[in-house]
Amino acid sequence: MPGFELFGDKERESVQKALETGVLMRYGFDAMRGGRWMASDLESALAKRMNTEYAHLVSSGTAALTVALASAGVGAGDEVIVPTFTFVASFEAVLALGAIPVLCDIDDTLTLDPEAVRRAITARTKVIMPVHMCGSMADLGALKTIADEYGLLLLEDACQAIGGTYNGQPLGTIGEVGCFSFDYVKTITCGEGGALVTRSRDLYEKAQAFSDHGHDHIGSDRGAEGHPHLGFNFRISELNAAVGLAQLARLDEFLDKQKAHYARLRQAISGLPGVEFRRVPEGGVENYSFLNFFLSDETTARRARQALLAAGVDGVFYWYDNNWHYHRRWDHFKELRSLYRFPELIRERLVSINGRDFAASDHWMGRNLSLLVKLGWDGQELEARAQAMARALSSL
Ligand SMILES: *Cc1c(COP(=O)(O)O)cnc(C)c1O
Repeated sequence: MPGFELFGDKERESVQKALETGVLMRYGFDAMRGGRWMASDLESALAKRMNTEYAHLVSSGTAALTVALASAGVGAGDEVIVPTFTFVASFEAVLALGAIPVLCDIDDTLTLDPEAVRRAITARTKVIMPVHMCGSMADLGALKTIADEYGLLLLEDACQAIGGTYNGQPLGTIGEVGCFSFDYVKTITCGEGGALVTRSRDLYEKAQAFSDHGHDHIGSDRGAEGHPHLGFNFRISELNAAVGLAQLARLDEFLDKQKAHYARLRQAISGLPGVEFRRVPEGGVENYSFLNFFLSDETTARRARQALLAAGVDGVFYWYDNNWHYHRRWDHFKELRSLYRFPELIRERLVSINGRDFAASDHWMGRNLSLLVKLGWDGQELEARAQAMARALSSL
């Protein structure tokens, strides 16, 4: 997955272009910048690549989620349905706005289970937030039907699945709004950065103002701009955007590599007794950033992980025990260990909602192993890895 593995001359040249003028801010300084607009150019390129209307860059994927939710009017006491298997950013963004993250079970897609989503809906629900974990997607058709039925916003967190598609459409563009992360370990990186994509002009306008202190960005005198509403600072710098410009141009090259590596590793272990691959919803195409499979039970999954590590296979994740991706170990969230006082409403609702039983999620996650697909392997490394994986897993 990590685009940093192939960081090279193109990225260096792009950053150098930004350094030549020294204009490192994305807005203003028109005369000094010599026609160079790294963030704006990256937004145009991203919207085009994603076959959508608008893209807006911000400082991180977490910021993109926060800005998307705020721009959709999500606030105090509103509920946002998030999966039990995700990244902590999902609940951080919701909490930042005074809204309530409602954990919801996943299924064998490793993403939101549509039936569990139905059961999690209350009168306060505003958003369904599927998170396309490890390169593959939620059942977006089913979730869209539910969102339409209840009048909810569908916000796709596609931070780990850029380049994947659903019914031919890029992930991130199926819901009303989608978010990407360009942090250092994502498929393409800005160093730090993120973006939201949408077809809604209204949502885009709000997002670009909200992420820059409410500036309306009308005219060329920043000091004279209006502020239609309050905002915050989630801006990206020109240096980060410059890295992203070079990386986005290489996205398809990265995806091709990822796919080839994934295909070889998958082939090496498919057909082994007890190995069952993650379900990809019909119409979906992964971005191939991870190879995910289930073993017959938790004990076997733990043994398989040990066998793979002993065979020298690195990048093997057992998310079930992970404390920033899976609900079981989110003690700081469950105990609401915040540095500042939280609204009582949130405190009460969180305790009652999130104390639920997530045995259905545990059933899948306890059996799952997830192998990072790297971009930097050469043919020999890939082959050695494929053979080591097959040996380790058939020894069980
Ligand atoms: C990386 C990631 C984020 C947040 O991105 P940052 O840019 O690191 O803030 C959000 N959701 C998922 C699923 C991620 O993997």
